[in-house]
Amino acid sequence: MGTELNSLWKKLSDLKRLESGWTHEDASAQGNRSPEHVKAEIEKRLGYFPPFFAPAQEALQLFEGLWQQQLAAYYDNPLPEVFKEKLAARLARHCASPYFFVTHACALHRLGMPAKDVRQWMEAPVASAPDLEQALETIAEAPHPLDSWPNGNSLLQTSLITCCSAVFLERPELERCTAELKQLFGPVNYTFVSALLAGIKFSHLWVESHPEISYEDHRIVQENFQALVRDEPALAELIRNYREAAWQNIRVMDSGDRDGEEGYRELFENATDIIYTHSFNGNFISINRAVERIAGYTRTEALQMKFTDMIAPEYQLQGQRMIDPQIAGESPLNCELEIFAKDGSRIALGISTRPIFRAGKAVAVQGIARDITKRKKTEAALHEANQKLEAWVNELEQRTREMSLLNDMGDILRACLTTEEAYNVIVQVAQQIFPVRVGALYIIAPSRNTVEAAAVWGDAALAERAFSPQECWALRRGRTHWVEHPGSGLTCKHIHQPLPDGYLCIPMMAQSEALGVLHLMQPENVKMTETKQRLAETMSEHIAMALSNLRLHETLRSQSIRDPLTGLFNRRFMEEALELEIRRAARNQRPLGMIMMDLDNFKYFNDTFGHEAGDLLLKELGVLLKSNIRGEDIACRYGGEEFTLILPEGTGAVTRQRAEFFREAVQRINLQYRGHPLGRIAASMGVAVFPDHGRTSGALIEAADKAMYRSKNAGRDRVTLAE
Ligand code: GH3
Ligand code: MG
Ligand code: MG
Repeated sequence: MGTELNSLWKKLSDLKRLESGWTHEDASAQGNRSPEHVKAEIEKRLGYFPPFFAPAQEALQLFEGLWQQQLAAYYDNPLPEVFKEKLAARLARHCASPYFFVTHACALHRLGMPAKDVRQWMEAPVASAPDLEQALETIAEAPHPLDSWPNGNSLLQTSLITCCSAVFLERPELERCTAELKQLFGPVNYTFVSALLAGIKFSHLWVESHPEISYEDHRIVQENFQALVRDEPALAELIRNYREAAWQNIRVMDSGDRDGEEGYRELFENATDIIYTHSFNGNFISINRAVERIAGYTRTEALQMKFTDMIAPEYQLQGQRMIDPQIAGESPLNCELEIFAKDGSRIALGISTRPIFRAGKAVAVQGIARDITKRKKTEAALHEANQKLEAWVNELEQRTREMSLLNDMGDILRACLTTEEAYNVIVQVAQQIFPVRVGALYIIAPSRNTVEAAAVWGDAALAERAFSPQECWALRRGRTHWVEHPGSGLTCKHIHQPLPDGYLCIPMMAQSEALGVLHLMQPENVKMTETKQRLAETMSEHIAMALSNLRLHETLRSQSIRDPLTGLFNRRFMEEALELEIRRAARNQRPLGMIMMDLDNFKYFNDTFGHEAGDLLLKELGVLLKSNIRGEDIACRYGGEEFTLILPEGTGAVTRQRAEFFREAVQRINLQYRGHPLGRIAASMGVAVFPDHGRTSGALIEAADKAMYRSKNAGRDRVTLAE
């Protein structure tokens, strides 16, 4: 269509040249025809001579050409009369001269259109973009190609006029409109439509350049104008003010208003924000060039898309809201969403929309979309920074909490008297600090060839109870062993199958000697952070220190209560223990047996075999006593070669029996010293029983001692019960 119009422009300028150059050309050159002939032909054909042709009469060739052109475009154009008139009438407002406005208004009236309808038709607003979209939809729904011409007042007819007007006005939708029309009419009929449009355009320019052409000289006007304005005075007002500002509102696209229109266009096109209109099926009706700068789509590309095509999947719901007539058709909407630019990148848009109403019905959505990508990125960065900060603060707080727990643990461990107590404290604290699947505190046995679980928490079934030090990499290497993904690293043999998520073994070192291992297995899918690992190491140091101290403490304590030569308790301990045992026996009204034992002629033994051999014998006696008493019995070296045994619950008979057993056992001691057998030895014993022979520890010891001396006096190597 554009090229056809162009060729018509060329034709018009040719005609203008003809008019100025050949005005005075000899009429004889035209053969026997004269302007009068042409005029007569026009009057014959139309029944009157429109003032439109008057300026051409001076130049025969032009006159002839103009008439032929009008015949082809209009009078001989086979399109229905009503359609031609209505279209021409609708487009008349775009001509600076009121000539066509009036002539076509009158022509419509003459064709039988009531004056009121004529006025409405003439002053109907220029179709908006959504109007045009509706028209295109109506056209698209009609049968293709058109089988019969639509009725004069049908929606399809009006839609065709709206669409043709858009072509005439070279609106942005021009290409879509021409394509639709061509498809509807088929190629032949389409040329008649385009010829009509071209003729109208040509005619507008013609009357604009000839202000002397007046509608008042037009027959149809003369015959119909009075009746028309009588019925519809507003029309007379409209015509009177044709060139006035009041009339501008229906001449939005008029050339007389080009300045304002261009100002608006410029604003629209150069806006930083995307300004668009889309129908309720999402198709863009208009969009400005900002879409190219912001999203990379050319305007043509964008116009072939739906609004929702561009929207990122997670924002589709919002997009659907914006094309939903129930939502977007009701009131303005504001939202932020992301679209995909042509290059695939994401663009964040802040969008404000409002519905466009026609005849009280929402027909489309108008929107302004601002690129807020940068703002969103800044916001996101800020948010991230805040979250990081919050996480840091949380972590710091957590660490402070954990450190204070560890310090508390250190304090409590220092107050622990036994390793058992210490293990309990360790488990309590470890459970609070380390969320684990299983945790275990392994201690290397004094033999140093097994590692035993001293404490286990979490899923105890997962922890090995005892293993050899070689089975733990932490013990073998003397440093922390962290396995993030078992299977990828060296896994300790003490780890049960199937392999867990990840685990940590930390050796507990004191004075460069490993005391054991702290073992922590992380729960499924909860990665043990590096911070936690450091914390576990700190904890392990605390534990190692505490255990080492406890051991030292226990050694010292044992030294103060035990006799270093025999390993038996010393006399001071025995006296304290006896006090306790007597009180317990009294409370429970149970007996308590006591044996006092003295080696016979030990001085002689020493003198014969030497002091060292004597020591060896004493040591052997210690072993004999320790290995032949019950757990609750107490064996002690009373002093020199004298020994005491306390047997809780021991009656006189039982105690005496035990004394006999030991007397015989002593006799059987058969020692060798430096390859030489040592002589036989014997012991004298005294037995006393609480409460029969003494109610206090002092009384009981004295009774036992006395009984022992009676054994000596009676010839040694015997047992005597106190009296
Ligand atoms: P009796 O049968 O009357 O008890 O005679 P005895 O020789 O055993 O008694 P006496 O009290 O005269 O001697 C005890 C001896 O035990 C004296 C001392 O040399 C010896 N003796 C005491 N303590 C130790 C020790 O730790 N090691 C050694 N080898 N001998 C000790
Ligand atoms: Mg003695
Ligand atoms: Mg003795």
